[in-house]
Amino acid sequence: MADQAQFDPGNVEVGRVSVRRGWCPTAWRPMAAGDGLLLRVRPSMGRITAEQARLIARVAARHGNGAIDLTNRAALQLRGLDEAGWRAALDTLVAAELVDADPARETLPLLVAPDWRDGDDTHRIATALSARLAELPPLPAKFGIALDAGAGCVLGNASADLRVERADTGALMLRADGRPTGVAISAGEEVDLIRALADWFVASGGTAAGRMARHDAALPAWATGGLRPRRSTGALVDDPRSYPLPFGRIDAEALAALTDRDGLTALRLTPWRALLLEGVRAPKSDVGDLRHVDACVGAPACPQASVATRPLATELAPLIAGTLHVSGCDKGCARRTQSDVVLTGRDGRFDLALDARADTMPALRGLTYEQVLAHFKGLPRAA
Ligand code: SF4
Repeated sequence: MADQAQFDPGNVEVGRVSVRRGWCPTAWRPMAAGDGLLLRVRPSMGRITAEQARLIARVAARHGNGAIDLTNRAALQLRGLDEAGWRAALDTLVAAELVDADPARETLPLLVAPDWRDGDDTHRIATALSARLAELPPLPAKFGIALDAGAGCVLGNASADLRVERADTGALMLRADGRPTGVAISAGEEVDLIRALADWFVASGGTAAGRMARHDAALPAWATGGLRPRRSTGALVDDPRSYPLPFGRIDAEALAALTDRDGLTALRLTPWRALLLEGVRAPKSDVGDLRHVDACVGAPACPQASVATRPLATELAPLIAGTLHVSGCDKGCARRTQSDVVLTGRDGRFDLALDARADTMPALRGLTYEQVLAHFKGLPRAA
């Protein structure tokens, strides 16, 4: 099976493996990171059965380094594979229907509201769209579609370019990301209109912009509508089924242990660093509150990082009341928007900025790990 897959080297050398930047990895097209290949799994409807979760844990431990990341688009990433391990893992995951046997169908991020129910609008539209993905035009690598048609909008802050959501009137609507309003859609026409808006995006030059919010061409009249999306209820963090993952990371052993809980039928993947457990309440998490903290993988997992990020972020978390971002470099993968406090790695040390992004001019430069800690321990709870 995996013999059909192209191992696709590019321009970032990591050991003997290299890959191209500026595209999104899939299971069929893994990406090299500092800790080996990264294989992304995007299960249908963002749901994996307990049995599939156990299989993923076994694959991650056997063929990778055991680390599994939940991305901000509700995909799972298995880390630390070598080329032979990737091929073996891919075969196993395709056989388990966790990866589509058609590589082309793995490329479009389709994000569904994790609290969907069988037969509801989110489920119905996702099923119809999945069957017609081939009708969509070739879209940029980071282009995504959010299906958020439940009673409350939960994906308002999640990254997407086309959004099917609930209007404040209760109607279903389609909205181009970055526009405040959208157009009403009737049951049964959702996929046709998603396809029409995707076609317009490509035909009007959106591919060069890469994302809908950056594409400032005037929408076609039929898509401009006056409907406003219902106010987002946000992440389901207080849901008793919600199991937070520190920085979105869980290891294979912990994932396997989670699936051993009596009554657990499946896990739902969310874009907010938590799993939703089907059938049971989530066990109490023993990690501190990291909801206000973002930190990328940093060194050594990312070849562009010169500092480890998450140990510092974890130590600083209780010292900082506002938002904190610790970034391995000025690319700022973990958070594109401003944070109250941002620490950016550079040449093995940290630059500090306030109300800033990772690429903002810092207020203090070249701090060691210890100096950063001493700085915040000496302040009243910052920000
Ligand atoms: S922000 Fe820099 S160091 Fe962190 S994951 Fe992105 S590229 Fe790597």
